Amino acid sequence: MTSIAELPTPSSAIACDCVVIGGGIAGLWARASLARAGYSCVLVSDAPLGAAQTVCSQGILHRGVKYALSPAAAEVSRALVAAQTVWDDCLAGRGTIDLRSVHVLTRQMYMWTKPGLLSGLTGVAASLAMRSEVTRLAKADLPGAFAGASDRVGVWSVKEPCVSAESLVAAMAAVPAGPVLIAPPGGPRPRLRQESGGVSVMVGDASIRARAALLAAGLGNEALLGDLNVQASQACQRRPLRMTLAKGVPFELFGHCIKELSDKPRLTITSSVDQDGQVVWYIGGDVAELGVTRRRDEHLAAVRRELGECLPWIDFARVRLADFEIVRAEGRADGGKRPDGPVLRSFGRAAAVWPTKLALAPLAADMALEWLRGVIEPGAGAPASISAPVQIAPAPWRWRDLEWN
Ligand SMILES: Cc1cc2nc3c(=O)[nH]c(=O)nc-3n(C[C@H](O)[C@H](O)[C@H](O)COP(=O)(O)OP(=O)(O)OC[C@H]3O[C@@H](n4cnc5c(N)ncnc54)[C@H](O)[C@@H]3O)c2cc1C
Repeated sequence: MTSIAELPTPSSAIACDCVVIGGGIAGLWARASLARAGYSCVLVSDAPLGAAQTVCSQGILHRGVKYALSPAAAEVSRALVAAQTVWDDCLAGRGTIDLRSVHVLTRQMYMWTKPGLLSGLTGVAASLAMRSEVTRLAKADLPGAFAGASDRVGVWSVKEPCVSAESLVAAMAAVPAGPVLIAPPGGPRPRLRQESGGVSVMVGDASIRARAALLAAGLGNEALLGDLNVQASQACQRRPLRMTLAKGVPFELFGHCIKELSDKPRLTITSSVDQDGQVVWYIGGDVAELGVTRRRDEHLAAVRRELGECLPWIDFARVRLADFEIVRAEGRADGGKRPDGPVLRSFGRAAAVWPTKLALAPLAADMALEWLRGVIEPGAGAPASISAPVQIAPAPWRWRDLEWN
């Protein structure tokens, strides 16, 4: 871990075209895109980069396959397909952002059914296979994780990469796109003030004067909208989750245990290796959404039940579980539904953006650039860059304060 970037003194107020507030994937990708288009930017964060949703994400660069299982989610699927080429190009080093240093944990996820669901999925799987995204695996081709599964379990391989979110944040932070300022720990959150001709943001003792502001602070957008006298409930919504980590698992697994005709898998499991070299499963999916309605002990029992039902050929008796709650911050959608794509709301010289998904960050950045072009031309010269390296937030499996049961 590296040290926090030093803040400038009050006398060295920074001027720029656009201040980007929030150091998650939305802010980092937008910063890179705006700078590439000629705008001078300063990125401000109240915590190490990636903190909150981005490093807690499962890192799956969804390609819409999961969503194609549900006709109601077709729009989400289209947005994800649009972002796919951008990710492929950037990860291969031929895109607008060089993401070759990003650790791709897997290039394919598995989708599997619990025993008996096979027939109901055949039609859907066949139509997906036409897009060469999904391949039904024959028994001989099953990976080790499914070696003990009965013949009644259907397993598909899905061309859907999963990346280490920490390495993604590190790669994005290294893009030369202007200074990154991280507020001193324990201090007040960066605040936004509208001024004639732009906005100002206070970060610790430092002041940034910008001609426009992009609010990319996830949940923090609520308070920032308050700074602009905008009622947050009109612009955004929350979707809380209770995520689970499982230690003592026998192998890495990347996959979704799917329900028939639903875009919400029962379980979505990704894997990482913790600081002790142990494989840790990171578990989301429907069980994580339901988890916030349950007590902790009920939730952990439900996760064990789901693991037992979805992977009945594996013995979980010695597996230990830990959990934590986290809120997904989204732009407001009708009826509180998950938005179909990124959401941007503009308020004069400021706009707030929510990518909805990590995978949709490139599209969110495009929306931010389109908005900024409609508001100002590139003008202010580039602010002096700050050479100190910035701190990256650790992923949940590196947290020291989790309770394991
Ligand atoms: C558990 C979980 C799993 C997920 N899995 C996936 C997945 O597999 N694939 C996928 O595509 N999507 C996934 N997502 C969604 C994805 O993580 C989010 O859509 C995305 O990370 C949001 O990025 P963001 O930059 O908008 O917000 P965040 O990542 O939350 O970043 C906002 C940043 O702003 C900072 N901030 C807050 N207030 C202020 C302020 N006043 N001043 C300065 N900085 C501030 C915060 O510290 C934070 O670092 C998942 C989400 C969760 C919660």
